[in-house]
Amino acid sequence: MLLADSRDPVSVSDIVQALAVTGGSLNWSEKSPLLLPAPLAPAPSPAPEWVSRVEEHLRDKRYADAVHFVLDARASGTIAPDEDLTGKLVESGGAAAASKLVSAFARFPCQKCGKGTDPCAICRGTGIRAERVVCEHCIGSGMIRFDFCGGTGLGPYDVVPITLRYPVLVRRAEIATTQAKSLLAWPLPSSEIELVNAVWNFNKLLAVMEGAVSAAGLLAAHDSRIADGVSVLWKNCQHHAEHLEAAMRAALLKLSEVCGSITQSRDSGDSSIAVRKSVFYERLATAPTFRGTCLHHPFLRATPLS
Ligand SMILES: [Zn+2]
Ligand SMILES: [Zn+2]
Repeated sequence: MLLADSRDPVSVSDIVQALAVTGGSLNWSEKSPLLLPAPLAPAPSPAPEWVSRVEEHLRDKRYADAVHFVLDARASGTIAPDEDLTGKLVESGGAAAASKLVSAFARFPCQKCGKGTDPCAICRGTGIRAERVVCEHCIGSGMIRFDFCGGTGLGPYDVVPITLRYPVLVRRAEIATTQAKSLLAWPLPSSEIELVNAVWNFNKLLAVMEGAVSAAGLLAAHDSRIADGVSVLWKNCQHHAEHLEAAMRAALLKLSEVCGSITQSRDSGDSSIAVRKSVFYERLATAPTFRGTCLHHPFLRATPLS
Protein backbone atom coordinates (compact mmCIF):
# COMPACT_ATOMS: atom_id res chain seq x y z
CA MET A 1 0.00 0.00 0.00
CA LEU A 2 1.08 3.50 -0.61
CA LEU A 3 1.88 6.69 1.21
CA ALA A 4 -1.04 7.04 3.60
CA ASP A 5 -0.73 3.49 4.82
CA SER A 6 2.85 3.29 6.05
CA ARG A 7 4.97 5.39 8.31
CA ASP A 8 8.63 6.12 7.70
CA PRO A 9 10.90 7.22 10.48
CA VAL A 10 11.41 10.95 10.72
CA SER A 11 14.01 12.12 8.22
CA VAL A 12 16.72 14.70 8.66
CA SER A 13 15.35 16.68 5.75
CA ASP A 14 12.03 16.95 7.59
CA ILE A 15 13.80 18.68 10.40
CA VAL A 16 15.80 20.88 8.07
CA GLN A 17 12.68 21.86 6.18
CA ALA A 18 10.67 22.48 9.29
CA LEU A 19 13.35 24.75 10.65
CA ALA A 20 14.10 26.46 7.37
CA VAL A 21 10.55 27.33 6.52
CA THR A 22 9.26 28.38 9.86
CA GLY A 23 12.42 30.16 10.91
CA GLY A 24 12.06 28.12 14.08
CA SER A 25 14.78 28.51 16.65
CA LEU A 26 16.50 26.08 18.94
CA ASN A 27 15.57 26.13 22.61
CA TRP A 28 17.64 28.00 25.16
CA SER A 29 19.81 25.17 26.39
CA GLU A 30 20.75 24.19 22.83
CA LYS A 31 21.37 27.76 21.81
CA SER A 32 23.79 28.71 24.57
CA PRO A 33 26.99 26.84 25.39
CA LEU A 34 27.05 28.53 28.81
CA LEU A 35 25.65 26.90 31.91
CA LEU A 36 24.18 30.14 33.24
CA PRO A 37 21.78 32.25 31.21
CA ALA A 38 22.72 35.82 30.41
CA PRO A 39 21.28 38.05 33.15
CA LEU A 40 19.40 40.33 30.75
CA ALA A 41 17.86 37.58 28.64
CA PRO A 42 14.06 37.83 28.61
CA ALA A 43 12.22 34.93 30.20
CA PRO A 44 10.75 32.65 27.52
CA SER A 45 7.00 32.98 27.24
CA PRO A 46 5.11 29.84 28.26
CA ALA A 47 4.08 27.56 25.41
CA PRO A 48 0.42 27.82 24.42
CA GLU A 49 -1.83 25.04 25.74
CA TRP A 50 -2.26 23.43 22.31
CA VAL A 51 1.46 22.64 22.10
CA SER A 52 1.37 20.01 24.87
CA ARG A 53 -1.80 18.44 23.41
CA VAL A 54 -0.20 18.09 19.97
CA GLU A 55 3.04 16.81 21.51
CA GLU A 56 1.07 14.19 23.43
CA HIS A 57 -0.64 12.88 20.29
CA LEU A 58 2.65 12.77 18.41
CA ARG A 59 4.51 11.11 21.27
CA ASP A 60 1.84 8.37 21.43
CA LYS A 61 1.96 7.99 17.61
CA ARG A 62 -1.63 9.17 17.22
CA TYR A 63 -0.70 11.08 14.08
CA ALA A 64 -4.20 11.40 12.64
CA ASP A 65 -5.42 12.65 16.04
CA ALA A 66 -2.65 15.27 16.03
CA VAL A 67 -3.83 16.49 12.61
CA HIS A 68 -7.49 16.51 13.64
CA PHE A 69 -6.61 18.39 16.81
CA VAL A 70 -4.73 21.09 14.87
CA LEU A 71 -7.52 21.41 12.30
CA ASP A 72 -10.21 21.65 15.00
CA ALA A 73 -8.17 24.16 17.01
CA ARG A 74 -7.70 26.33 13.93
CA ALA A 75 -11.41 26.12 13.13
CA SER A 76 -12.31 27.22 16.67
CA GLY A 77 -9.70 29.98 16.74
CA THR A 78 -7.51 28.42 19.46
CA ILE A 79 -4.71 28.27 16.90
CA ALA A 80 -4.34 31.32 14.67
CA PRO A 81 -4.39 30.69 10.89
CA ASP A 82 -0.79 31.93 10.53
CA GLU A 83 0.52 30.30 13.74
CA ASP A 84 4.10 29.11 13.43
CA LEU A 85 3.20 25.54 14.39
CA THR A 86 6.57 23.90 13.91
CA GLY A 87 8.37 26.88 15.45
CA LYS A 88 6.33 26.55 18.65
CA LEU A 89 6.91 22.79 18.77
CA VAL A 90 10.65 23.30 18.25
CA GLU A 91 10.75 25.81 21.10
CA SER A 92 8.86 23.50 23.39
CA GLY A 93 9.94 19.96 22.56
CA GLY A 94 12.68 20.13 19.96
CA ALA A 95 12.86 19.54 16.24
CA ALA A 96 11.63 15.94 16.38
CA ALA A 97 8.09 16.92 17.41
CA ALA A 98 7.94 19.53 14.63
CA SER A 99 9.13 17.00 12.11
CA LYS A 100 6.56 14.47 13.27
CA LEU A 101 3.77 17.00 12.79
CA VAL A 102 4.99 17.62 9.23
CA SER A 103 4.98 13.87 8.60
CA ALA A 104 1.53 13.52 10.17
CA PHE A 105 0.12 16.09 7.72
CA ALA A 106 2.12 14.60 4.83
CA ARG A 107 0.50 11.20 5.41
CA PHE A 108 -2.93 12.39 6.47
CA PRO A 109 -5.42 10.55 4.24
CA CYS A 110 -8.10 12.18 2.14
CA GLN A 111 -11.22 12.28 4.28
CA LYS A 112 -13.53 11.83 1.29
CA CYS A 113 -12.10 8.77 -0.44
CA GLY A 114 -9.11 7.29 1.36
CA LYS A 115 -7.68 5.54 -1.69
CA GLY A 116 -7.62 8.27 -4.32
CA THR A 117 -10.04 6.58 -6.71
CA ASP A 118 -13.68 6.89 -7.62
CA PRO A 119 -15.86 4.73 -9.91
CA CYS A 120 -15.79 6.07 -13.46
CA ALA A 121 -19.08 7.81 -14.23
CA ILE A 122 -18.76 7.37 -17.99
CA CYS A 123 -18.71 3.55 -17.94
CA ARG A 124 -20.32 3.22 -14.49
CA GLY A 125 -17.24 1.50 -13.15
CA THR A 126 -17.24 -1.33 -15.69
CA GLY A 127 -14.36 -0.14 -17.88
CA ILE A 128 -16.49 -0.78 -20.97
CA ARG A 129 -18.79 1.86 -22.41
CA ALA A 130 -22.36 1.14 -23.51
CA GLU A 131 -21.29 0.77 -27.14
CA ARG A 132 -18.89 -2.02 -26.03
CA VAL A 133 -15.70 -0.05 -26.49
CA VAL A 134 -12.98 0.35 -23.86
CA CYS A 135 -13.61 3.45 -21.73
CA GLU A 136 -10.76 5.83 -22.53
CA HIS A 137 -11.41 8.03 -19.52
CA CYS A 138 -10.61 5.27 -16.99
CA ILE A 139 -8.44 3.21 -19.41
CA GLY A 140 -10.80 0.27 -19.00
CA SER A 141 -10.13 0.04 -15.25
CA GLY A 142 -13.53 1.36 -14.14
CA MET A 143 -11.75 3.82 -11.81
CA ILE A 144 -10.79 7.45 -12.12
CA ARG A 145 -8.75 9.74 -9.86
CA PHE A 146 -10.81 11.15 -7.02
CA ASP A 147 -11.36 14.80 -7.79
CA PHE A 148 -11.08 16.17 -4.24
CA CYS A 149 -7.56 14.87 -3.61
CA GLY A 150 -6.41 14.62 -7.24
CA GLY A 151 -6.06 10.85 -6.91
CA THR A 152 -3.41 11.05 -4.20
CA GLY A 153 -5.57 9.57 -1.44
CA LEU A 154 -4.08 12.30 0.77
CA GLY A 155 -5.60 15.36 2.39
CA PRO A 156 -5.58 18.25 -0.10
CA TYR A 157 -3.11 21.08 0.42
CA ASP A 158 -5.73 23.68 1.22
CA VAL A 159 -6.48 21.67 4.38
CA VAL A 160 -2.81 21.92 5.44
CA PRO A 161 -2.06 25.09 7.48
CA ILE A 162 -0.21 27.59 5.32
CA THR A 163 2.87 27.62 7.59
CA LEU A 164 3.18 23.83 7.19
CA ARG A 165 2.38 23.55 3.52
CA TYR A 166 5.89 23.78 2.10
CA PRO A 167 7.54 21.23 4.43
CA VAL A 168 4.53 18.95 3.97
CA LEU A 169 4.73 19.03 0.17
CA VAL A 170 8.49 18.44 0.29
CA ARG A 171 7.89 15.47 2.59
CA ARG A 172 5.19 14.05 0.31
CA ALA A 173 7.49 14.35 -2.70
CA GLU A 174 10.24 12.57 -0.74
CA ILE A 175 7.95 9.72 0.26
CA ALA A 176 6.60 9.38 -3.29
CA THR A 177 10.16 9.32 -4.63
CA THR A 178 11.17 6.58 -2.20
CA GLN A 179 8.08 4.56 -3.08
CA ALA A 180 8.68 5.08 -6.81
CA LYS A 181 12.21 3.69 -6.50
CA SER A 182 10.87 0.72 -4.57
CA LEU A 183 8.04 -0.01 -7.04
CA LEU A 184 10.27 0.39 -10.07
CA ALA A 185 12.73 -2.16 -8.69
CA TRP A 186 10.10 -4.93 -9.05
CA PRO A 187 9.43 -6.73 -12.33
CA LEU A 188 6.01 -6.13 -13.86
CA PRO A 189 3.34 -8.68 -12.90
CA SER A 190 1.76 -10.91 -15.52
CA SER A 191 -2.01 -10.96 -14.96
CA GLU A 192 -4.42 -8.35 -16.31
CA ILE A 193 -5.69 -7.31 -12.89
CA GLU A 194 -2.19 -7.00 -11.39
CA LEU A 195 -1.00 -4.99 -14.36
CA VAL A 196 -3.95 -2.61 -14.01
CA ASN A 197 -3.07 -2.28 -10.31
CA ALA A 198 0.55 -1.57 -11.23
CA VAL A 199 -0.54 1.20 -13.61
CA TRP A 200 -2.69 2.67 -10.83
CA ASN A 201 0.15 2.50 -8.31
CA PHE A 202 2.40 4.41 -10.72
CA ASN A 203 -0.45 6.81 -11.39
CA LYS A 204 -0.98 7.50 -7.70
CA LEU A 205 2.68 8.39 -7.18
CA LEU A 206 2.55 10.66 -10.22
CA ALA A 207 -0.52 12.32 -8.71
CA VAL A 208 1.35 12.92 -5.44
CA MET A 209 4.34 14.40 -7.29
CA GLU A 210 2.07 16.51 -9.46
CA GLY A 211 0.19 17.75 -6.39
CA ALA A 212 3.47 18.68 -4.66
CA VAL A 213 4.84 20.51 -7.70
CA SER A 214 1.58 22.31 -8.27
CA ALA A 215 1.22 23.44 -4.64
CA ALA A 216 4.91 24.43 -4.55
CA GLY A 217 4.45 26.65 -7.60
CA LEU A 218 1.57 28.48 -5.93
CA LEU A 219 3.60 29.03 -2.75
CA ALA A 220 6.71 30.16 -4.63
CA ALA A 221 4.67 32.82 -6.41
CA HIS A 222 4.21 34.52 -3.01
CA ASP A 223 7.47 33.60 -1.30
CA SER A 224 10.73 34.07 -3.20
CA ARG A 225 12.72 32.46 -0.35
CA ILE A 226 11.57 29.00 -1.42
CA ALA A 227 12.16 29.53 -5.17
CA ASP A 228 15.43 27.57 -5.24
CA GLY A 229 13.98 24.74 -3.18
CA VAL A 230 10.93 24.55 -5.42
CA SER A 231 13.12 24.45 -8.50
CA VAL A 232 15.05 21.46 -7.10
CA LEU A 233 11.84 19.76 -6.03
CA TRP A 234 10.35 20.18 -9.49
CA LYS A 235 13.44 18.75 -11.22
CA ASN A 236 13.50 15.76 -8.86
CA CYS A 237 9.81 15.07 -9.33
CA GLN A 238 10.09 15.41 -13.09
CA HIS A 239 13.06 13.03 -13.15
CA HIS A 240 11.17 10.35 -11.21
CA ALA A 241 7.97 11.02 -13.13
CA GLU A 242 9.77 10.18 -16.37
CA HIS A 243 10.76 6.79 -14.96
CA LEU A 244 7.25 6.18 -13.64
CA GLU A 245 5.71 7.09 -16.98
CA ALA A 246 8.11 4.77 -18.82
CA ALA A 247 7.15 1.94 -16.45
CA MET A 248 3.50 2.79 -16.96
CA ARG A 249 3.90 2.50 -20.73
CA ALA A 250 5.69 -0.84 -20.31
CA ALA A 251 2.80 -2.07 -18.14
CA LEU A 252 0.28 -0.90 -20.76
CA LEU A 253 2.17 -2.76 -23.49
CA LYS A 254 2.20 -5.88 -21.36
CA LEU A 255 -1.53 -5.43 -20.74
CA SER A 256 -1.98 -5.36 -24.51
CA GLU A 257 -0.09 -8.66 -24.80
CA VAL A 258 -2.02 -10.28 -21.95
CA CYS A 259 -5.38 -9.19 -23.39
CA GLY A 260 -4.19 -10.37 -26.82
CA SER A 261 -3.51 -13.81 -25.40
CA ILE A 262 -6.98 -13.96 -23.83
CA THR A 263 -8.49 -13.70 -27.32
CA GLN A 264 -7.01 -17.10 -28.17
CA SER A 265 -8.38 -18.87 -25.11
CA ARG A 266 -11.95 -17.53 -24.91
CA ASP A 267 -14.73 -17.07 -27.36
CA SER A 268 -17.55 -14.72 -28.41
CA GLY A 269 -18.24 -11.73 -26.10
CA ASP A 270 -15.20 -12.02 -23.83
CA SER A 271 -12.94 -12.41 -26.80
CA SER A 272 -14.20 -9.35 -28.66
CA ILE A 273 -13.73 -7.16 -25.57
CA ALA A 274 -10.25 -8.60 -25.01
CA VAL A 275 -9.34 -7.82 -28.63
CA ARG A 276 -10.51 -4.25 -28.18
CA LYS A 277 -8.58 -3.92 -24.92
CA SER A 278 -5.45 -5.29 -26.55
CA VAL A 279 -5.65 -2.72 -29.34
CA PHE A 280 -6.56 0.05 -26.91
CA TYR A 281 -3.65 -0.60 -24.52
CA GLU A 282 -1.13 -0.85 -27.32
CA ARG A 283 -2.28 2.48 -28.74
CA LEU A 284 -2.25 4.11 -25.28
CA ALA A 285 1.24 2.76 -24.48
CA THR A 286 2.67 4.53 -27.52
CA ALA A 287 0.50 7.70 -27.44
CA PRO A 288 2.50 10.97 -27.23
CA THR A 289 0.52 11.98 -24.12
CA PHE A 290 -2.18 10.48 -21.92
CA ARG A 291 -4.45 13.48 -22.45
CA GLY A 292 -8.13 12.62 -22.03
CA THR A 293 -7.40 9.73 -19.66
CA CYS A 294 -6.97 9.41 -15.89
CA LEU A 295 -3.21 9.00 -16.49
CA HIS A 296 -2.66 12.57 -17.67
CA HIS A 297 -0.52 14.78 -15.37
CA PRO A 298 0.10 18.07 -17.18
CA PHE A 299 1.53 19.95 -14.16
CA LEU A 300 4.53 17.63 -14.04
CA ARG A 301 5.57 18.87 -17.46
CA ALA A 302 5.10 22.60 -16.95
CA THR A 303 7.59 24.54 -14.87
CA PRO A 304 5.98 25.67 -11.59
CA LEU A 305 7.93 28.93 -11.53
CA SER A 306 6.80 30.39 -14.86
ZN1 LIG B 1 -9.54 11.50 -2.04
ZN1 LIG C 1 -14.69 4.45 -17.46
